[in-house]
Amino acid sequence: MARNRSFNKRNILIVVVVILLVTMVLTGRLVYLMIFKSEYYAAKAQELHERERPIKAKRGSIYDINGVEIATNKPVCTISVIHSQIEEPEKVIEVLSRELGLSEEKVRKRVEKRSSIERIKSNVQKEVADRIREYKLKGVMVDEDYKRYYPYDSLASKVIGFTGSDNQGVIGLEVKYEEYLKGINGTILTLTTAYGVEIENAAEDRIEPQPGNDLYISLDVNIQKYAEQASYKVLESKSANNVKLIVMNPQNGQLYAMVNAPEFNLNDPYTLINEIANDYVGETISDEKLNELLNGMWRNACISDTYEPGSAFKIVTTTAALEEGVLNLTDRFFCPGHKKVEDRIIRCHKAGGHGSQSFVDGINNSCNPVFIEVGARLGAENTYKYYERLGLFSKTGVDLPGEANSIMHKLDIIGAVELATMSFGQSFQITPLQLLTAASAAINGGTLVTPHFGIEVRTPDGRVVKTFDYKTTENVISAETSETMKQLLESVVSDGTGKRAYLPGFRVGGKTATSEKLPRRTGKYISSFIGFAPADDPQVIAIVLIDEPVGIYYGGTIAAPVIADLFDNILPYLGIEEKYTEQELKDYDIGTFEVPNFVGKTKNEMKDLLKIYDFGDIYPTGDGDIVIEQFPLPGEKVNRNSALVLYYE
Ligand SMILES: [Zn+2]
Repeated sequence: MARNRSFNKRNILIVVVVILLVTMVLTGRLVYLMIFKSEYYAAKAQELHERERPIKAKRGSIYDINGVEIATNKPVCTISVIHSQIEEPEKVIEVLSRELGLSEEKVRKRVEKRSSIERIKSNVQKEVADRIREYKLKGVMVDEDYKRYYPYDSLASKVIGFTGSDNQGVIGLEVKYEEYLKGINGTILTLTTAYGVEIENAAEDRIEPQPGNDLYISLDVNIQKYAEQASYKVLESKSANNVKLIVMNPQNGQLYAMVNAPEFNLNDPYTLINEIANDYVGETISDEKLNELLNGMWRNACISDTYEPGSAFKIVTTTAALEEGVLNLTDRFFCPGHKKVEDRIIRCHKAGGHGSQSFVDGINNSCNPVFIEVGARLGAENTYKYYERLGLFSKTGVDLPGEANSIMHKLDIIGAVELATMSFGQSFQITPLQLLTAASAAINGGTLVTPHFGIEVRTPDGRVVKTFDYKTTENVISAETSETMKQLLESVVSDGTGKRAYLPGFRVGGKTATSEKLPRRTGKYISSFIGFAPADDPQVIAIVLIDEPVGIYYGGTIAAPVIADLFDNILPYLGIEEKYTEQELKDYDIGTFEVPNFVGKTKNEMKDLLKIYDFGDIYPTGDGDIVIEQFPLPGEKVNRNSALVLYYE
């Protein structure tokens, strides 16, 4: 027993000592590996990890309301090298520098760098990439990639936006709808030995990328083009700073166009446009300054900048007063050219005064004293009740990044003077889009809509996956008030300060404005006009702002014609037909023409002549070749498309 026990004891001791020794050796080795060789192993692990190459997902396209592609992708390639796989380094350097137009030195540096994968160039045109592939150079990788491309260059640049080098949206709808457009990147995982050599025949582990979905918006490329044309025309002729123009469907808030002229090229968004760059010719622009200038160039002022709306805001004051029942159209007012409010004299734009006038005359004349009185009848609380209902205290909710909110007086500090200036659109600030939205509610029957571009999202194969809903609030004002507003604003265009927006055949309603920029008396103005058509059933509403026009700056003189120019093009485009009143046919001599003398003409000559005149149906009789009689008779005035009877002998 005792011998056995002592034997066991010795044995146990030996075992313990051996275990201790082994443990010490192992621990030492581990410590050595962990501490002294850790960098080596980490590098190895990373090398394996980095052999995972991403495959970029194709970003979804953006389509206009007619299905026209306005943001898409061009296939491009990224060329990289894997150092450990290169067999003919000199040939690789020669081919890549020649094909990619890079210096040999630059390429050599990357080819000779002992890293797992080195990018040589991205955004390489497909043809060039295909040629490089033909050389079948070991260690040269050609990966398919996409570059965002905008077929219309500068069209609606500040609305659509663009993407950065990582293919992520930077501004505009490209940012707002990032989650739908971006897709999911894939990867290629290549198996390699510890030395980074690809294992022959080892299957590539490939996770396919998922393309992004397509966005469909309400912008109409044709309307946007017309709007940009009209904007550039006035921008150039008036040497203005900029021109903003928004076109919307007042019934549902769909935005058809949004112009911020001058626009910039979406395919080259980091280059300053001439309008900005020309101010810095010969100067070195610091990076900080360049950043500031680029941000200014990209800014969507239609939604990000506030201004004093001026007289166009009389739409809101009138709507509120009618709805609150403190105003009748037949009420009479007197304007001696100014109005005293507390200790202040507030002037009318007509120095001699408008004299005695009805409210209808007052709005046609855009007479400030009339509106000061209307504002006083409403009072501050009621005024704010309608500002609230017409959405003027909150952002419109438009689906674009960077929307600003209004800047209003606090209710409790509004005295008679503030109330007076507010009634004609001064002493507070709103965005152009806020005013357009409030005016829409005034003329669409009383519904506050959310202005928007996004309609739906579809998969690349056309399946609808998301339809956007927007908040609408009905009855913010009554249908009767809205009906009256349409008539009043039509009369401003037919008989008042908005005359220059008048288009024979179309019923246009609207309101002019001339706002003096702050600080006052610097001679800087914003001329604007808000117009809609047809006045009895509004299908389109638009607002234009001309910033710091040179020379004549009255909204009625220079802004109203911009809307007339726009409507002249887009109303027929939207399928709204001209309907002339008897008076218009007479006054403008439209739609009628004088019948020429066709007697003595041959059949062949008649073929050409009839192309010139707007006759409707032609009734030839007789079997000769010469016209001997005609009806209507020569010299008679007829409407376009009248029938013509010709007797041949
Ligand atoms: Zn007046």
